[in-house]
Amino acid sequence: MNNLYFTEEHNLFRKSLQDFLQKEVVPHIDKWEQTGEIERFIWKKFGEMGFLGIKYPEAYGGMDLDLFYTIILLEELQKINSGGFAAAIWAHVYLAMTHLDAEGSEAIKQKYLTPSISGEKIGCLCITEPFGGSDVAGLRTTAVKDGDSYTINGSKTFITNGILSDYLIVAAKTDPEAGGKGISIFVVDRETPGISATKLDKLGWRASDTGEIAFDNVKIPAENLLGEEGKGFPYIMQHFSLERLIMGVNAHARAEFALEYALKYMSERQAFGKTIDQFQALRHSIADLATEVEFCKAFNYSVTYRLNKGEYVVKEATMSKLKSTKVADDVIYQCLQFLGGYGYMEDYPLARMLRDSRLGPIGGGTSEILREILAKIIIDKKAYKPAT
Ligand SMILES: Cc1cc2nc3c(=O)[nH]c(=O)nc-3n(C[C@H](O)[C@H](O)[C@H](O)COP(=O)(O)OP(=O)(O)OC[C@H]3O[C@@H](n4cnc5c(N)ncnc54)[C@H](O)[C@@H]3O)c2cc1C
Repeated sequence: MNNLYFTEEHNLFRKSLQDFLQKEVVPHIDKWEQTGEIERFIWKKFGEMGFLGIKYPEAYGGMDLDLFYTIILLEELQKINSGGFAAAIWAHVYLAMTHLDAEGSEAIKQKYLTPSISGEKIGCLCITEPFGGSDVAGLRTTAVKDGDSYTINGSKTFITNGILSDYLIVAAKTDPEAGGKGISIFVVDRETPGISATKLDKLGWRASDTGEIAFDNVKIPAENLLGEEGKGFPYIMQHFSLERLIMGVNAHARAEFALEYALKYMSERQAFGKTIDQFQALRHSIADLATEVEFCKAFNYSVTYRLNKGEYVVKEATMSKLKSTKVADDVIYQCLQFLGGYGYMEDYPLARMLRDSRLGPIGGGTSEILREILAKIIIDKKAYKPAT
C-alpha cells in the first residue's frame, strides 16, 4: 500500500523525521508528560528542520509539500507515544495556522504565519466554550466593532496550547442574532490586555497544556479579522475536514504502534511453556485487530489522496475520524490486555496510550456529532459545500 502513495522522497523524509524525533524529542517526553509543559527550544528545532511548514507556502518559509508529508509527520508523532506532544504540534500547525494561511491577509501572514513556521510563535484555535462545544453555531463569545477595532468578551475552554501559545485564533459572534451566520474569526495577540488563562488538569494528553481562557474587553485592531465578517462558521466547517482526517490518521498510527509493541512483547513473554503469541485465542484477536487497523489506514490514505487533489471530503473525513478513533481505542484496550499486569504499569507504553487515545472520540467533534453529520448526508442528502 505504501508504494501507492509514498515516493522515495517521502520515505527519506520519514527516515530523517524518525531520527530527529528519537534524538531531539524522545529524551524529553517523560519530563514533559510530568510537567505538562513542552519547552520552547523544541519548537525552534522543529521550525529549523522545516517540519512546521511542510504544508505551507514557500513565501512564508514553508515547503509547500503534498499532504502525504503531513501524514508522515502525524504518524511518526504518534509513534513516539505522547499524544499530548503530538497534539501540541498538530494543533499549532493544522488548527491555528490553517486559518492564518487560508483566511489571513498578507500582513497577517507576515506577522503570524512566518514566525509560526519558524517555531518562534505558537498558536491555538479557540472554538469550544464552557457552555458547549458541539453546538458551534451557539457559541456566545462576542466581538463588537467600534471604528477600527473589535472588542472581544467571553470565554473558551479545553484549548490545546491555551496557556503557552503566543497568539489565539478566536471564533466570536459579530452578529449574535444571526446564529451560525454571525460568527467571525480573529487572530489575537496573547499580550493583549484582558486575556487570562487557567490550566486544566486532565486524564491524558498530559504533555500538552490545555487551557480555559477568559476575554474581558479585549480590544484588537480591525485588521485582525480573518477573512470576511460572518464567514467564520463556514471557515471552521471547511477546515474540519482536514482536522478530522488528521484525527483519523493519528488514530490508525497509534493503533499500529500499539499493535507492533504488543506483538514484540508477545513474542518474548512466556506462559505455560510457550510464548503467548502461540495461544490461539490471542492470535485470532491479533488477526482481527490488524485487519481493522489496515482497513482504517487504507481508507485514510485514500481520503488524503482525494483531499490533496482538492476534493471536498467532508463525508469521508468524518467517517475517518469516527471509525479510526473507535478502532484505536479497541486496539489499545486489547493490546494493554495482552501485556497483562505490565500493561497497567507506567513503565510500559500502553497505559499512556490508553489515556491519550480516549480523547479521539471526543475532541474535534464527538462521535455522536459525527454520526449526526453522516446521517444528514446519507439519509437527508444534505450537501456540505466549501466556503465561498
Ligand atoms: C484535551 C482536549 C483538547 C481540546 N482542544 C481543543 C482546541 O484546541 N480547541 C477547541 O476549540 N476545542 C478543543 N477541545 C474541545 C472539544 O472539541 C470538545 O470537548 C468537543 O467538541 C465536545 O464539546 P463539549 O465538551 O462541550 O461537549 P458537549 O457539546 O457538551 O457534549 C456532551 C455530550 O453530549 C453529546 N451530544 C451533544 N450534542 C449532541 C447531539 N446533537 N446528539 C447526540 N449527542 C450529542 C456529545 O457527543 C457528548 O457526548 C478539546 C477538548 C479536550 C478534552
